[in-house]
Amino acid sequence: MEKIGFIGLGNMGMPMAQNLISNGMKVKGFDVSEEMLKQASENNIMVCSDALQASKEIDVLITMLPNGEAVSSVFNSESLLENIDPSVLIIECSTINPKTSKELSLKALSLNLEMIDAPVSGGVKGAEEAGLTFMVGGSVENVEKAKPILSKMGKNIFHAGDSGSGQIAKLCNNMLLAIHMSGTAEALSMGVKSGLDPSVLSEIMSKSSGGNWSLDKYNPYPGVMTESPASKDYQGGFLNKLMIKDLNLAKELAQDSKTETPMGDSARKLYDELIEQGLEDLDFSSVQKLFK
Ligand code: NAD
Repeated sequence: MEKIGFIGLGNMGMPMAQNLISNGMKVKGFDVSEEMLKQASENNIMVCSDALQASKEIDVLITMLPNGEAVSSVFNSESLLENIDPSVLIIECSTINPKTSKELSLKALSLNLEMIDAPVSGGVKGAEEAGLTFMVGGSVENVEKAKPILSKMGKNIFHAGDSGSGQIAKLCNNMLLAIHMSGTAEALSMGVKSGLDPSVLSEIMSKSSGGNWSLDKYNPYPGVMTESPASKDYQGGFLNKLMIKDLNLAKELAQDSKTETPMGDSARKLYDELIEQGLEDLDFSSVQKLFK
């Protein structure tokens, strides 16, 4: 039986860990939140008192933390890397700066540790249904080693390239997501204000050249799709505060790679505005609210 250590049991980490357990794996976990630890023990996760304890006597260590600061704090400040057995494969699933990710994996390598970056797409629903897409960076051998574990939590596993490449793919994807969500909201607003029914307009555009994932699967206009966050006051889903985090990381990536990103910049300004309005805990399709 594979023994997994899991650090960061939040909205994504908890259902991912549960999927490993339902596939017969033994999971020990740690989170700084007492509430999450309580939920973890109710979900058959062996609760640990700190990250170090969660990293002992395991085959694989998975981290699913909110940001780069938390990832650095776990691996560096708490000297985790220096204390992990070299037989353990480390799978870092948080969305963080590709540079931080690469630096961390180089440090791991210098300590004879195997580490890959494997950020995800698919949201909480994808995590619950084991339907995540993993974008993986690292050596071919380590990616192959990780596949049997990742396949218990996701449906698509892509090897993007060397360490940090998974993070680059994730940031490109989320910048594009913000752009087509904002564009979809803008077009729907113009159509409705010009007298069209949002459902009729959505149907037309989805069967025409304007069709895209935001319009077809995650429609931002309230009432068009009963199950989308837009029809539930934009509650749940992928929060604006996570989208702005990813857009700021994408901006850094654009600067580092000397890439012009005028569309990404426009989308980021809209998400900045949502945050300024105090709407950080609404789903990212609430960008529709800015097109009044
Ligand atoms: P979350 O805030 O719900 O969970 C993060 C967990 O990490 C929290 O429970 C927090 O208490 C814990 N934590 C923070 N610092 C810690 C530390 N030092 N040691 C141990 N635990 C610590 O966030 P989430 O929604 O689960 O997202 C996790 C990551 O996945 C983020 O990087 C996010 O960008 C990415 N992501 C999220 C979604 C989504 O839809 N929520 C989708 C794709 C990717």
